[in-house]
Amino acid sequence: MKRITVLGSTGSIGTNTLDVLGRHTDRFTVFALTAAKQVDLLFKQCVAFKPQWAVMTDIAAAQELKDRLQAAGLTTQVASGASALVDVSQDEAVDVVMGAIVGAAGLPPCLAAAAAGKQLLLANKEALVVGGDLFMATVQEGGGALLPIDSEHSAIFQSLPDDRSSWARRVDKIILTASGGPFRTRDPATFHDITPAQAVAHPNWVMGQKISVDSATMMNKALEVIEAHYLFGLPPERLEVVIHPQSIVHSMVQYHDTSIVAQLGTADMRVPIAYGLSYPERVTSGATPLNFETLSQLTFERPDPARFPGLQLAWAALKGRPGSTAVLNAANEIAVDAFLTGRIRFDQIHVVNAETLGANWSGQTDTLEALLALDVDARQLAGAVVARLS
Ligand code: NAD
Ligand code: MG
Repeated sequence: MKRITVLGSTGSIGTNTLDVLGRHTDRFTVFALTAAKQVDLLFKQCVAFKPQWAVMTDIAAAQELKDRLQAAGLTTQVASGASALVDVSQDEAVDVVMGAIVGAAGLPPCLAAAAAGKQLLLANKEALVVGGDLFMATVQEGGGALLPIDSEHSAIFQSLPDDRSSWARRVDKIILTASGGPFRTRDPATFHDITPAQAVAHPNWVMGQKISVDSATMMNKALEVIEAHYLFGLPPERLEVVIHPQSIVHSMVQYHDTSIVAQLGTADMRVPIAYGLSYPERVTSGATPLNFETLSQLTFERPDPARFPGLQLAWAALKGRPGSTAVLNAANEIAVDAFLTGRIRFDQIHVVNAETLGANWSGQTDTLEALLALDVDARQLAGAVVARLS
């Protein structure tokens, strides 16, 4: 029996994780579930999975959850605040941690899990984009496994040989696929009119709001290029992106002899989640298999830099000063929030990101505290750009 903490259990990845866990109750028990403030859903999840701990970042929400659990006669203990997220990620009773919080807020608990040598399943790409080399060094020192949950990175991981030390030598390049999101064919001259509701309506995946907007700008793919750099250790010039609107080929690895190995499947996050949970075994995920008889076509196209200017910021950040990927992530979190709350237009997200990345910031990246300080500074710079635009 493995004991698991699910960080962000009420989100899109969190609920998919519990769906897979519910199919394998003979292998897993839930140690802790966490959420920002969704009391109703976290309560239901506690009733179903009876965790030892439930953590809510919001104090009032935590109190409400506590009262409801007590009234229902459940023994789940409730904690609140960011430090409680760290506690349930590094507790010695825990074997596996699913990082499914959105944004840099997930960095401290993910890093704590890595330092404690847990098997860390990482969906929370922002944590790695901010943590960068420190994150990877912490995983190495902690001695646990880091398994990607992002579908592209799971596909790449599944397409690579087991012998990690051979990756840099054997691999020519990594090719990340991207759906192109909801605006792949929309006239870019109309991008200033895009509403939040249009931006979060993804054609192939049902996801949280922030990643849905990131998919629409292709900043999600920019973050994933950075994520791939840190996970697989290839330099930026050996990372490529191709648009594949059907989301069937989840990403590919091209070797020096030109052979390409890919992972295919229907667009269902339970597949990479099940793989991360059971690695190196395979267990059922609940997903529907591909049907090649009804699959009409697989198409590929080059991302248009005029339509998706944000994509290039991945390479700019990777080739920039240390801390650039953290600054880019902070800017993007501020820009997406400003767009979703009606303060800037869709086409201004890129303005905020590019201006903040190019601003005169400075900071250290060798400790968590330094990275969090850099994150705060970058959010201030990005906030000033938002204020000017709105
Ligand atoms: P979501 O918004 O649906 O869920 C986020 C979860 O984190 C919720 O449980 C929420 O309560 C919690 N949370 C939000 N802000 C928090 C904070 N400040 N502190 C603590 N907890 C907080 O998001 P999602 O779509 O599930 O995405 C989660 C992560 O997984 C993101 O980093 C995203 O990029 C990544 N990811 C998601 C998908 C997908 O299909 N949804 C695919 C690949 C990667
Ligand atoms: Mg992805």
